[in-house]
Amino acid sequence: MWNISIDEPRPFELLAPRTLEEAVELGSRHGKDAAFLAGGCDLLDQLKHQWTAPHYVINLKSIPGLKGIRSEGNAITIGALATLTEVERSTRNALPGLARAASRVATPQIRNTGTIGGNLLQDSRCPYYRGPWYCYRAGGIVCDAHHGINQEHAIFGGNRCYTVSPSDTAPILVALGSEVTVVSPAGKRQIPIDGLFTTPEENITTMHRLGPNEVLTSITIPLRSQQRSTFIKYAMRNSWDFALASAAVALEMDGGICRECRIVLGGVAPAPWRSRLAEQEIEGKALNAGNIESAARAAIAGAKPLQYNEYKLALVKKLVRNALLELSA
Ligand SMILES: Cc1cc2nc3c(=O)[nH]c(=O)nc-3n(C[C@H](O)[C@H](O)[C@H](O)COP(=O)(O)OP(=O)(O)OC[C@H]3O[C@@H](n4cnc5c(N)ncnc54)[C@H](O)[C@@H]3O)c2cc1C
Ligand code: SF4
Repeated sequence: MWNISIDEPRPFELLAPRTLEEAVELGSRHGKDAAFLAGGCDLLDQLKHQWTAPHYVINLKSIPGLKGIRSEGNAITIGALATLTEVERSTRNALPGLARAASRVATPQIRNTGTIGGNLLQDSRCPYYRGPWYCYRAGGIVCDAHHGINQEHAIFGGNRCYTVSPSDTAPILVALGSEVTVVSPAGKRQIPIDGLFTTPEENITTMHRLGPNEVLTSITIPLRSQQRSTFIKYAMRNSWDFALASAAVALEMDGGICRECRIVLGGVAPAPWRSRLAEQEIEGKALNAGNIESAARAAIAGAKPLQYNEYKLALVKKLVRNALLELSA
């Protein structure tokens, strides 16, 4: 039973693999009785509150080579253990949308410690799930948010669970067409980053598709010469706060015509929400005020707000409009 006074973890053994293979082997051996540790900003909180109590914590920081950020041909590869500060500083020129998203995460202290991999794989922030309730996501038989306090919850893609993807870097990495590299006992594989995230329909108990013996090792982002990108987040506080909604846009301009436009929303669905209808209003067209307005309207098509979060409709429209206007300048 959850207890409000708990502020220390249950005893666990800290394992320090020296290679990826060793980490994957330890993950396979201990399964759900182990957790991978990166920066610890999310995991340590969960351990201290005893929301999760594995007997083994596998420290990925003891493995060399998971940290660097390097340019290779027409792509940038970011090691999963690169900190958010490092990501912000290294991508300002080549990928300004990503740099902006990294700079909007939490506080400088958390950005100095938290890693890009951990940011993508962090768990739901729904206060019911992280509180003394026992909702669907925690294995129970009800969604407390659905009939409770749901200002911060999903307007898209909710299905029994209405939590939102809390990561600020996920929407822009999806918009930029990134791929992630994952190492498992079967070897190394690269998948489009959209494939990393799951929905409550598929698995209500997790936010991502990695198994307990799979390590995210890097993220590769293609560089395109005519590409422009941006990220705009709205939160109640500017210091540290999770997004009530965010909009990430990446597009290429070709003779005044917009190509390869991707518009991805954060904080409004259980996974980064790609707004294909909004993209269609821009793709192959001029980036002018009329088309931008159509895209902003299309971005909320199909939304199903809950009792207290209808305000997100106007918010999403404004964020998409502002992001596109910024890129049209
Ligand atoms: C006060 C506060 C405010 C915050 N505000 C924001 C915000 O505004 N925006 C935002 O986006 N985030 C925010 N966060 C979340 C924060 O950014 C993440 O907690 C942090 O980035 C996670 O990174 P980490 O390296 O500390 O991950 P950890 O806590 O170490 O790990 C997180 C999870 O990912 C798993 N994991 C980590 N790396 C790997 C890997 N390479 N392979 C497999 N599994 C892995 C861990 O097992 C764990 O389950 C906030 C957090 C706090 C505490
Ligand atoms: S939104 Fe999801 S995490 Fe939150 S109470 Fe409902 S089922 Fe639980």
